[in-house]
Amino acid sequence: MIETEVLIIGSGPAGSTTALLLSTYGIKNICVTKYRWLAETPRAHITNQRALEIFRDMGVEEDVKRLAVKQEWMGNTVFCTALAGEELGRIQTWGTHPRRKADYTLASPTTICDLPQNLLEPILFGAACERGTRPRFDFEYLSHVQDSDGVTTTVRDRLSGEEQKIRSKYLVGADGGRSKVAEDIGLPFEGKMGVGGSMNIVFEADLSKYVAHRPSVLYWVLQPGSNIGGIGMGLVRMVRPWNEWLIVWGYDINAEPPVMTDELATDIAHKLIGDATIPIKIKSYSIWTVNNMYATALSAGRVFCMGDAVHRHPPSNGLGSNTSVQDAYNLAWKLAAVLRGQAEPGLLDSYNAERAPIARQIVTRANQSIAEFGPIFEALGLLNTADPEIMREHMAARKDNNPTAAAQREALRKAIAFKDYEFNCHGVELNQRYVSAAIVPDGEPDPGFARDPELYYQPTTRPGAHLPHVWLQQAGHDVSTLDIAGHGKFALFTGIGGEAWVTAAAAIAAARNLPITTAVIGPDRDYEDLHGEWANIREIDEAGVVLARPDMQVAFRARHAAASVQDAQARLGAALDHILGKPGEGAQSKAA
Ligand SMILES: Cc1cc2nc3c(=O)[nH]c(=O)nc-3n(C[C@H](O)[C@H](O)[C@H](O)COP(=O)(O)OP(=O)(O)OC[C@H]3O[C@@H](n4cnc5c(N)ncnc54)[C@H](O)[C@@H]3O)c2cc1C
Repeated sequence: MIETEVLIIGSGPAGSTTALLLSTYGIKNICVTKYRWLAETPRAHITNQRALEIFRDMGVEEDVKRLAVKQEWMGNTVFCTALAGEELGRIQTWGTHPRRKADYTLASPTTICDLPQNLLEPILFGAACERGTRPRFDFEYLSHVQDSDGVTTTVRDRLSGEEQKIRSKYLVGADGGRSKVAEDIGLPFEGKMGVGGSMNIVFEADLSKYVAHRPSVLYWVLQPGSNIGGIGMGLVRMVRPWNEWLIVWGYDINAEPPVMTDELATDIAHKLIGDATIPIKIKSYSIWTVNNMYATALSAGRVFCMGDAVHRHPPSNGLGSNTSVQDAYNLAWKLAAVLRGQAEPGLLDSYNAERAPIARQIVTRANQSIAEFGPIFEALGLLNTADPEIMREHMAARKDNNPTAAAQREALRKAIAFKDYEFNCHGVELNQRYVSAAIVPDGEPDPGFARDPELYYQPTTRPGAHLPHVWLQQAGHDVSTLDIAGHGKFALFTGIGGEAWVTAAAAIAAARNLPITTAVIGPDRDYEDLHGEWANIREIDEAGVVLARPDMQVAFRARHAAASVQDAQARLGAALDHILGKPGEGAQSKAA
């Protein structure tokens, strides 16, 4: 029997990231996937700052950036009747509006970018394999049995047809929206699959003359009557500027899915472009369904599910792959800590407590974003009639010089601006705050959010929140707080007068065999705060302490200086006992 520490089913963003993290942390893992290769079509593309921070931690951010389309080219989201047709409105998206750009720049050392999934996966999977992951293509997960020591999984080699058994300590089900692993462990789900029908058409065409002057990743096209009895909304999505594209086009979920052919795909593409003379090379097409379903628990015993296996939703807000990557970041360090004996298995329960609410949040948001096209349709007068001719008349009526038309124009402007909740939803991307046994509450009241928590990220060092990013300086060079944290280790931040925390951390690290990065911030210390940004954001006294977990979530903070090294050791030790669920080393720590 093949043996490993963690068996990962699936090599999508969730599985590849898990493999990369575990291999980087030195944990043996095998990653199996049903198909002969990684994603072959573009699929997910918007890559947000949280995902990029994880890639940065893993040392692959530069590889991603090299292939990605930059933020500057992402943001003129267009609403039009065809790419060659009339433009109805525009919204500056993905933080490109000058009013929003600062929010994005201040939030992270990384920049949102656009990278199709078929280019991202080889980076993640390649780095994972380079660092130790054993890959198995054409291996299909069939079933598993778990006992008190581990999991025995049966897989089928799809080339030979032979079945094999793999024994692991833990099993990760990152096997996508039709997850068999999630089904086998009986995860509870809420919501519904198949609430809408969609098709993806990937094609090559040089559309520079219609788009290069208004660069964007998304061009929304409204063509009443172009699909039978419907509003006819389609999306032309940039895959590579400006010669590779993906069209998302709907079909009636209550009818038979359309039979796709090159002719039909070309016809749809030409209609949405609005210029049938443009040469088109169809690369692929596929039918998929819009889902609205999330798991309310993500694991059972030694089996953990992540990614689309537990959150199934439309591409709106670009949350699919990003959330899958973050699921992996949450789980991987915990698996590593438990496998190394640094934490009790109970730590793994916090994966459920921390990520299940996120699954629910993003599924709800992505589906709501679809519903929020409604006010645009309403403003254009596309509702209350099924007659495409009347719809077109209503759309044209907005050009008139009368109060009704002025009100219509105003309604359309507002409806398009409201799409901020899909395209500038920075808070949904970054505001995750965890409440679980792996977070030590500091007893201070939750100050809530000063601005809309979906639209705006609010940094805080409050336990459960993500460690805020600020640029510190070392020998004059900028270093992000997020670059100090991560790397599979806990990280402790303090300032002048907080040295007791550092001494305590060193003793605890030695006693527990648990590396802790320490950073004293101040003049002539490890890092300087020349701009005063840390002082502005830390919410603790200079000599207080912030402790971030390896996934950069704040797990513990103390507002004031420790009374002594012993005091610091007792409080930090107790905090780590709480987080890792592993008391007992405290005695050694105290003695040290
Ligand atoms: C057609 C399509 C278009 C999409 N477009 C977008 C988009 O524009 N934007 C966006 O954000 N998201 C989009 N998504 C969603 C996005 O691709 C997912 O959110 C993301 O891929 C989830 O990653 P994952 O790793 O959880 O699952 P997946 O990427 O689905 O990976 C699942 C993995 O599991 C493997 N697998 C499945 N079953 C088995 C088995 N029995 N045995 C072994 N291996 C198995 C598969 O081979 C694959 O490697 C799209 C999805 C689809 C299907």
